Amino acid sequence: MKLMEYQGKDLFRRVGIPTPSGVFATTADDVKTFITEHPGSWVLKSQVMMGGRGKAGGIKFADDAAQGETLAKELIGKHLVSIQNPDGETVKSLLVEEKVKIAHEAYVSIAIDRAAKKPVIIVSAQGGMDVEEVAEKHPDAIVKAWVDPAIGFSPFLARELFFAAKLPAGYGKTFPKVVGALYDMFMTYGANLVEINPLVLTEDGAVIASDAKVELDDNALFKHPDIAGWNKAAPTDEDQAAGVAIGLGMSNYAKFSDEPGEPPKNVGTIANGAGLGMGTMDAVKNAGGGAANFLDIGGGAQAELVKNSYKLVTSDDRVTAMFINIFGGITRGDQVALGIVDALKGDDVRKVPLVIRLTGTNAEEGRKILADAGFFPVETMDEGAAKAVALANGGSN
Ligand code: GDP
Ligand code: MN
Repeated sequence: MKLMEYQGKDLFRRVGIPTPSGVFATTADDVKTFITEHPGSWVLKSQVMMGGRGKAGGIKFADDAAQGETLAKELIGKHLVSIQNPDGETVKSLLVEEKVKIAHEAYVSIAIDRAAKKPVIIVSAQGGMDVEEVAEKHPDAIVKAWVDPAIGFSPFLARELFFAAKLPAGYGKTFPKVVGALYDMFMTYGANLVEINPLVLTEDGAVIASDAKVELDDNALFKHPDIAGWNKAAPTDEDQAAGVAIGLGMSNYAKFSDEPGEPPKNVGTIANGAGLGMGTMDAVKNAGGGAANFLDIGGGAQAELVKNSYKLVTSDDRVTAMFINIFGGITRGDQVALGIVDALKGDDVRKVPLVIRLTGTNAEEGRKILADAGFFPVETMDEGAAKAVALANGGSN
């Protein structure tokens, strides 16, 4: 699992690696408020899962709140493309960090050397945005040391690296501590890669991790369940409670907030099975829309549960159309259809255009029940997603 910079720095702080002070922000308003309350010079750093943000225009400097707001508006929603990621990625959040005065930029990382079957520490005095070029043109400026995991890390290794890489003297005192802490973190969290570029020597003589690139081994994530959930669309406690209240499992329902630069999340979704639920959200996205939620009603869904799921999803005011995607098998299509017809009979539910894809057991009977009741039965997922997105956005097709 790859971490974003702000997540990597969270781990840095846990092991005692100094990082600039900062705050995570998802709106230009938050940036403005933060800088108003904390006047000074700040760096706005796009939080995307790719390197080379500096060169791609994803790092900006702000000296006051107004400038911070303007730059944040520019960055959030911007599609960043770099050499490392030609497809690019849209910026959804920023890390607002204290701007440090840089005297020197060094590079340090730890990775697994598969051939040596050992972690390798890689250091260069010429860190910063051109480190790839350094590696290509001046390979001698990159030095390495291998750690025997049976023995562990010892500070003398870091001191050797310090001299071999010809790091400026100012790094001398702190460098072994930073590398030791980075090694701790590498082992504790089961990392494949931890990288600090640049490891900054400030004009005041402090050594600070200005950037963080961290990749954790998925097979080690079970040891740290809090981190394992970081990049999943995990249900909030509130979502869990709402789902459980109608008889769903703990992680069967999640609601998603709107994101800048993405279509409004106005299509409510219900599917049977977690995989189909995710596929349904993807289909809505591919059709140019946004799914307001994830809801897996599970196998063998009975009319009552379908009804309550429908109510739960449409209790979200943003939802202007529903897409129910039932891939038959255990779940009986006619049961599902009856549940929906029943749910929409009452005055206690909000009625929105409803598209339903039914296949499998008793699907035809189900579709007939639905068509007779004035809904939109379809046979394929893509057809259903396209129709639901059109209906959600006020069209009819
Ligand atoms: P990357 O381009 O994605 O690796 O993003 P970095 O976090 O490494 O930032 C890119 C470059 O922006 C760094 O190499 C620095 O030159 C510059 N930069 C980032 N933060 C600061 C800061 O606090 N102060 C100064 N002066 N420059 C910074
Ligand atoms: Mn960097």
